[in-house]
Formats: sequence, C-alpha cells, structure tokens
Amino acid sequence: MHIAIIGAGVSGLLTALELVEQGCQVSIFDQQQPGKAASWAGGGILSPMYPWRYPRPVNEIAQHGKTLYTQWNEKLLPVTGTDFQIHETGMLIFDEDDFETGLNYKDRYQEPMQQCEYLQREQLKQVNPHISEQFQHAIYFPQLANVRNPRLLQSLLAYLKQHPAAEIYENCWIEQFSIQHGKIQSIQSQSGQTFTADEYVIATGAWSAHWSEQLQLSIPVAPVQGQMLLFKTPENWLPTMCMNQVMYLIPRMDGHIVCGSSMDNIGFDKRPSVQTQQNIFKACTEMVPELANFPVVKQWAGLRPGSPTGVPYIGKLPELHNAWANFGHHRNGLCMGPGSARLLRQLILKQPTLVSPDAYNPERLKSSVHG
Ligand SMILES: Cc1cc2nc3c(=O)[nH]c(=O)nc-3n(C[C@H](O)[C@H](O)[C@H](O)COP(=O)(O)OP(=O)(O)OC[C@H]3O[C@@H](n4cnc5c(N)ncnc54)[C@H](O)[C@@H]3O)c2cc1C
Repeated sequence: MHIAIIGAGVSGLLTALELVEQGCQVSIFDQQQPGKAASWAGGGILSPMYPWRYPRPVNEIAQHGKTLYTQWNEKLLPVTGTDFQIHETGMLIFDEDDFETGLNYKDRYQEPMQQCEYLQREQLKQVNPHISEQFQHAIYFPQLANVRNPRLLQSLLAYLKQHPAAEIYENCWIEQFSIQHGKIQSIQSQSGQTFTADEYVIATGAWSAHWSEQLQLSIPVAPVQGQMLLFKTPENWLPTMCMNQVMYLIPRMDGHIVCGSSMDNIGFDKRPSVQTQQNIFKACTEMVPELANFPVVKQWAGLRPGSPTGVPYIGKLPELHNAWANFGHHRNGLCMGPGSARLLRQLILKQPTLVSPDAYNPERLKSSVHG
C-alpha cells in the first residue's frame, strides 16, 4: 500500500514511521523544510498541563506518549545517532486551586504519569532547591517527563530519509485534491506537479482549514501563537519541570531550560513580541528567581493547531474512501503524537486499536463547527 502524507510535523512523521514499519510505502510532503513548524517550537511536556482541565480523550491518547517515545528512541537511535532524550524530571505545580483536583484525578484514573503527592515547603526544597520562597507548597508528579522535540524531529527525518520505503518532498505546498467517485485520485502541488497514492493522510497542523472548501467540511482548526524563551544554565541545574498559572519551565539534560508560553489568536504570525517575552521572563523568574542570573539564548514563536476542544481529528474523513485525518492537536500534539499516529495506522490497516477511536472520529467535521 502506498500512502501520501501531507505535512511533516510530528503528526505526519510519526504516522509515516508507523506505516513504513508495517511494510507500507510512504511519500511525505511539506510546504517548507520538514519538522520546522509547531512540532519544533513546542516544549515537549509528555502530558497535558493540568490534565483534569481537558476532555478525557485527550488524556487517554496522551498517556501512551512516554512509553511509545521510549520504544521509538531505542529503535531509532542506533540508526540515526540522535537521542531525543525522554527526560524524566517530574513536575511541580504551584497553583493552589488545582491541588485538590490534581490529587483526586490521580486517585480516579491511576495513570502512572499522573501519580502525584502534596509537598510542604521542606519537602519541596529537597525536590528542587531553586524554588522561590513565595511558594510554600506544591503538588509533585515524579514520573512526568519531557521529550527534546527538535531532536525527535531530527531523528524521525533521518530515519525516514534512509528508509527504502519512504520519500520526503520539501518545499512542496500541496494545493488541491482531485476527487472522483468518492476517492482522492491525486494531489497537486502549487507548482503543478501531480502525485498519486492509494491512501492520503492530512497532517497539516495549523493549516488544516485550507481543506474545508475542497472537502466541503467546516474544519475548525486555526493557528494559536505560542512564544518561548530559552535559558542556558549549567548541566542538570534545575532538577524538575515547574508550572504556575499555565507558565512553565522545562529543563533539558544539558542545562537548557525552555520557558513558555503564551496563547494568541493572531493568524499565521510567528514573530515574538517584546511584551510577551517579558511576561514569560517575569512568570518564570517568579518561580525560580536565580534564573535571572543566566543568559536567555533564544526566543521564538510557533503556531499550534488550535481546535475547539483540543480533541484531535484522527481517522477517515467523511464521504471519502481513501482520505484520513491526523490534525487539530492544539496544545498537546507532542504528547498525543505517538498515540495518534498508532491509532491512525491501526485504522488505515484495519487492525485492533490502542484506544477506542470514536471520540476522535472526523465525522464530527460534518455536523458541527464546534467540534
Ligand atoms: C509554544 C508551544 C509550546 C508547546 N508545548 C507543547 C508541549 O509541551 N507538549 C505537547 O504535547 N505539545 C506542545 N505544543 C503543541 C504541539 O507542538 C503541536 O500540537 C504539534 O506540534 C502539532 O503537530 P503537527 O504535526 O500536527 O503540526 P506541525 O508541526 O505544525 O506540522 C504541520 C506541517 O504541515 C505542513 N503543511 C501545512 N499545510 C501544508 C500543505 N498544504 N502542503 C504541504 N505541507 C503543509 C507545515 O509546513 C508543517 O510542517 C506546543 C506548541 C507550541 C507552539
């Protein structure tokens, strides 16, 4: 089976990986350099932040992220030489209003990553000595990890590039489908090239509403800008991820600390703004005041594929026999990525699925713009 995948972010590349490992042939298309959009810009926390604030299907698919990334890293590392570092730092959450809900959530769902405990100031200091005195307590999730997403993309691309069943087309904007008899017959690039395959996957992230008109659907996916800044501290300086009021710190193994983030509906605009960067700086140094002593080495913005409830569209598109969706992951596309790709592969190849597919069914796109 030959499958064309439009979009080379984490959603498209992991789908490609799943499919080539099952003996399929894949062609992957990206309008720009692959792996440089939201999936590069994100933080890589391997759980929804405050999971209790999300619909159940988001958490159900996200909980597979850490295990599947660990397995993929083991498989890809010897081939690509790139370790994408599943860094189990744990996370501290300081939002007092969430303490009780967080502790109840853990008891209710028994997911290993959501196991958490309440810490008083003394215990908190032992877990992370750099936390500001203004935080007297926290809830602590010891098993929460982050993935180094730019390296993840590097590794996926390197693996697929050397794979005999995969081909990648860069700087190739797919403009339209040719549809006949309820099937996509071919896809056309902006420069007029035509490509054919047996099945077609749309994994176009924040750009997915582009297909609404051609598919006669209301695809309620729109870019939501998120900004980040990056500190450089000594190796292993900050022991845990930290979160307060939706702002977070994510330590990498080499001492880089990714800090974010903002949420702005300003279209396809990827320019960081001074004001937002200052807000992030302030929120992060409030949690860890000593951070102000270290240099900010980079700042950037990315475009999340915002969707109304954050539950992605995964599965067969309505009315077409050979068109599939894997988009709309909003704030959680890195943690949902491996589960989403596995589910889609299982649906395409008619295999048993790792979660029930109903909640993600793109049939929703037919009936409602809400979701
Ligand atoms: C600041 C920030 C922080 C984040 N933090 C986290 C986090 O900690 N944890 C987490 O789980 N998630 C996080 N996310 C969300 C996560 O990054 C996204 O949900 C995820 O990367 C979406 O992946 P994707 O492959 O669907 O989209 P993308 O990575 O955007 O990829 C889509 C690709 O499709 C291509 N494309 C689009 N249209 C076409 C076309 N017509 N033809 C050809 N190519 C096309 C684009 O060029 C792009 O490369 C964060 C996002 C941001 C911005």
